[in-house]
Amino acid sequence: MIERLRHWLHRRHHPLRYAHLDALLRTQALNRDELLARQQRDLADIVEFAATHTSCYAETLTPFLDRSPFDINELPILKKDDVIRRMDDLLADNADRSHVKIGHTGGSTGKPLAFWYDDAKHELMRAGMMRSYMLSGWRPRQKILNFWGARQDVVPGGVFGAQFGDFIAAEHTIAAFEYTEEKLVEWARFIQRCRPVLLQGYASVLAEVARVVIENRLPMPKTLIGVYSTAEVLNDAQRQRMQQAFGCKVFNQYGSREIPNIACECSHGNMHVFTDMVFLESQPLKNENRLLVTSLTNRLMPMIRYDIGDSGRLLDGECDCGLPFPLMEMALCRQNDL
Ligand SMILES: [Zn+2]
Repeated sequence: MIERLRHWLHRRHHPLRYAHLDALLRTQALNRDELLARQQRDLADIVEFAATHTSCYAETLTPFLDRSPFDINELPILKKDDVIRRMDDLLADNADRSHVKIGHTGGSTGKPLAFWYDDAKHELMRAGMMRSYMLSGWRPRQKILNFWGARQDVVPGGVFGAQFGDFIAAEHTIAAFEYTEEKLVEWARFIQRCRPVLLQGYASVLAEVARVVIENRLPMPKTLIGVYSTAEVLNDAQRQRMQQAFGCKVFNQYGSREIPNIACECSHGNMHVFTDMVFLESQPLKNENRLLVTSLTNRLMPMIRYDIGDSGRLLDGECDCGLPFPLMEMALCRQNDL
């Protein structure tokens, strides 16, 4: 009863988020050809938008607009340094400057990067995350416990700061940027009391919680159906430890602060690229396959062929899970972790 009321309140509190979620679930029902055709249209649209609404891309992309269709391989690559240097020039000229906010990447490692976001972009990000969670069988209204390792995520006003929002979303966020052995045990005991359906957070933090769960033989609630690992590369040892400790499947989620919801692992263990949100390329560069990401939805701060700092490959073939999204494989090492 309380769960239903809470869910009703959450929907009312976030109409845009649920509208996005419904739209994303509809795209997920398309077939592969329809999806890829739509992706090509979205790509052409975002390139045109960037060229006409940002001074940064006006310089570099305008010559390509006359060539229809243009070849994506000829478009310039956006480097992290470009984002740092030209942040103001990347903000769309039609953005409402009184409502835009500055977010930061970084987490525990890597060079911090600032980026523009607003409430609409935040709501789409959260809707995309909800869709990923649903791949585990989770349904909106079921409890999620987040372990956030980045200080900027949990401070008041940070990306995940809302307390009331957390309450009606049945979400609880633990500020996991500083932890001791005692804290880890305390969090494991909190999982026992809270009885969440999903755990979500940084791979390194979740793996540490899993370690104390195993070492202290703390039984985990049977409510758990999935662990979503994000923001860092998840290695096999961490995955196995989490599966052993929490007794459920681990789902690797791929995305960053500046471009969230790039890909997510399905129940069959394959990484699917969300082609309704991104255009992903893998380009051979200095002995690795660098991933370049174009956000198809970001009309606040367009990012086209962004060198996100990771490597991986796009894979052919289908997955038996039935999702229409194409497959990818992450390389084990993430540049940010070095
Ligand atoms: Zn699959």
